[in-house]
Parts: sequence; C-alpha cells; structure tokens
Amino acid sequence: MSESGSGATPVLLLENVEKKYGSIKALNGVSFVGRPGEFIALLGPNGAGKSTLFQLLSGLFTPDAGRIEVMGHDMLRNPVPALASLGIVFQQPTLDPELSVTANLLFHTGLHGMPRAVAKERIAKELSRLGLADRADSKCGQLSGGNKRRVELARALLHEPSVLLMDEPTVGLDPASRTELVKLMHTLRRERSVAVLWATHLCEEVVDADRIVLLHKGKVLRDTSPAELMASTGTPGIEEAFLSLTGPTEAAA
Ligand code: ADP
Repeated sequence: MSESGSGATPVLLLENVEKKYGSIKALNGVSFVGRPGEFIALLGPNGAGKSTLFQLLSGLFTPDAGRIEVMGHDMLRNPVPALASLGIVFQQPTLDPELSVTANLLFHTGLHGMPRAVAKERIAKELSRLGLADRADSKCGQLSGGNKRRVELARALLHEPSVLLMDEPTVGLDPASRTELVKLMHTLRRERSVAVLWATHLCEEVVDADRIVLLHKGKVLRDTSPAELMASTGTPGIEEAFLSLTGPTEAAA
C-alpha cells in the first residue's frame, strides 16, 4: 500500500475481468486495485494473460465480463476520461525512425488535438526531465534502444496521466538499459505520484515494486509485496517464489 492510503480513489480497479479467445480463457476472473503512486508489477510467464489485460486496459478490446475503472471512470461507460488518465508504452516500438524526436512527439500531440504552442512547451519540458534535451532534433532511428524507450515514455507522459501502463517495456534492451529504465520508473512515480503498472516475466525487475500481482493462466495467484511473496512461499528470492507457484516449464519459456 502506498503512503496515499486505502481511502484514495483507486487509479485502477479491476473486478472479475474475463476474456476468452474461442475456448481459451486468457483472463479468468482477474481482480486487483492500484493506488496513487504505486508501482505494481504484473508478473507472469508467457501466456499468463498480461498482454490481453493491457489490451483491455488500453481500450483496444472490451472484456467478456467484469469491470475496469481508471480514476473512478468506467472503461465501457465513460472511456474518454478513463483513457485520458492513462499513459501507455507498448511492447513493440512505435516511433517513426525517420522523424526527429520532437517531430514524433508533435505528431502524437497533434493527433490528440493539443495546441502546437502548448505541445512544444510540454515536449521540451518532458525531454529535459527525462535527460533527452540534447536529442530533441535527432532522428529516432539514430537513438539507442534505451533512449527510444525514454522517448516513448516522454510521449506517454505528455498529457500528465495518473497511471502509466508499461507492457514488457524492457524487451530488446541490454541489461544496463533495463536496469536504468526500472530505476527511472521508480524516480518518476516518487517525484510525480504517477502509478505504474509494469508487466514483465523478469523477476529482477520487480524486486522493488510496492506490489506484485502474479498472473498465471489467466488468474491472479498472488497480490502482495515482494517480501510477503517470498515469506508466503518460504523462498529466499522472487525467482524461487515465482517458480514454486508457476512451475519451471512456463517460467523458462
Ligand atoms: P502474455 O502476454 O502473458 O504472454 P497473452 O495475453 O498474450 O499472455 O496470452 C494469454 C493466452 O491467450 C495465451 O494462452 C495465448 O495463447 C492466448 N491468446 C492471446 N492472444 C490470442 C489471440 N489473438 N487469439 C487466440 N489466443 C490468444
């Protein structure tokens, strides 16, 4: 639980969310709550349902059953304010490599109807906060993998969301850039009180999370702190706890 306490409106609320693909139950009654400024790790092996959950949270699909709220707004009945509260970094890179960093971000703000003068100011501020001010005019294709992710993060933050959805954001990054990105996320949520839902199958990325929501075969197996996860499984580390709950086959996938 964050310092903000349990009384605050949850930034995220999922209640008995279900999603099927034909006969496959990708999500089978998923419920959890995210509080302001919390770093929640959505940890699960391949096939657990993480991407499906992100697709529902980002409004790409609707659940077959259950309820999703963002900042108290129901995703189905009130999608505009719900989506406006979210910043999303997708797993697949989504920048135009031929355009500069600023042009990529202006394209995004243009799509969202932000006046150009306001957009330019916010972009400059965000790039500076994320240590990218000197790359503003560089073509995105010339950036390192870590800096490309930072640009995507800047883009997700431009409208000052209350919660950031990060879908396996370290895929394709080298170990140093992975560690750096995780650290940056902790700084961001501390400094700006933005909540983070971080999907991953990598245990080393979740050790400092406030909570781990452990997803396996479409169900939440645990929703607890890293320390309690280890204590409840009697294991010395997250990796061992993860393996004891999900089995070695899936974890190795
Ligand atoms: P994760 O992101 O944790 O790897 P997914 O959400 O991609 O998990 O997948 C959850 C389950 O749903 C898996 O069994 C997967 O094979 C299945 N699945 C995902 N997308 C589709 C799809 N478009 N069609 C059919 N089955 C799918």
